[in-house]
Amino acid sequence: MSGPPPIAIGDLLAETRAALAEAGVDNPRLDARLIVGAAAGATIEQMIARPETPVDADSAAFARALAERRADGAPIAYLLGVKEFWSLDFAVTAATLVPRPDSETLVEAALARCADWSRAWRVADLGTGSGCLLLAFLSERPHATGVGLDASIEALSVARANAHAHWFDARARFVCGSWTSALAGPFDLIFANPPYIPSDDIPLLAREVRDYEPYEALHGGADGLDHYRAILAELPRILAPGGAVVFEVGQGQALPVADLCELADLKVEAIRRDLGGISRCVVAAKSSA
Ligand code: GLN
Repeated sequence: MSGPPPIAIGDLLAETRAALAEAGVDNPRLDARLIVGAAAGATIEQMIARPETPVDADSAAFARALAERRADGAPIAYLLGVKEFWSLDFAVTAATLVPRPDSETLVEAALARCADWSRAWRVADLGTGSGCLLLAFLSERPHATGVGLDASIEALSVARANAHAHWFDARARFVCGSWTSALAGPFDLIFANPPYIPSDDIPLLAREVRDYEPYEALHGGADGLDHYRAILAELPRILAPGGAVVFEVGQGQALPVADLCELADLKVEAIRRDLGGISRCVVAAKSSA
């Protein structure tokens, strides 16, 4: 008995791209290349240079199954299990948000504030998810150490795996807890990308986000600011004198979050924009006295 004849990789790419385009996926050409490449174990260069290369039936079936899930809205990062952030590869699962390029604004802000390369900066990352903020920072400051905190055990195991993959086991610890409660400090720098989508905006999110990313990592209460209030209630306790928090905020939230920081006796030092020009990051410091 013989199975179906093997399909050429160029034909599988064209078929996948057409199916994704038909389903209204944003970037059908790129996603088709990523899916077929992952399923067939081929690089983009190999697929383009040798489109006639045959793909075995199992790999083709795998590519079609992935394409079907992508057509249903599953984020490409969940299908591939990996997302690049700060030029590092991070494992991601449905228990973690997919790292966003916008969040690199927080890493830039933290590095600007912790400019001394040689110092043993003490860092915390509240709601660490995949660990991307903390680990990107550690990759730039070789004497820094950090704690990543998350309420999700599943997310913490992803973050730990990422720390291990990038050789940061000795400098990164991960703990389960709700915001500051499990932490003693003091920290020189605290990252926080809390859930900040207002309840009424959840139904308006892109389906990739709304239907696939963890709701607990997105939903910020009626006005989206619940978690900033909860974090700021205790944050000064764990900040070192002169230490700072670097918050990610949603569109329109920079000024309200800056106000909440001032109410917590922190001095707002900077509001930074992301690549799309949206105020994405609020930096606020505890006095050094
Ligand atoms: N940036 C995410 C989005 O826009 C939200 C992340 C969060 O709530 N912290 O979908």
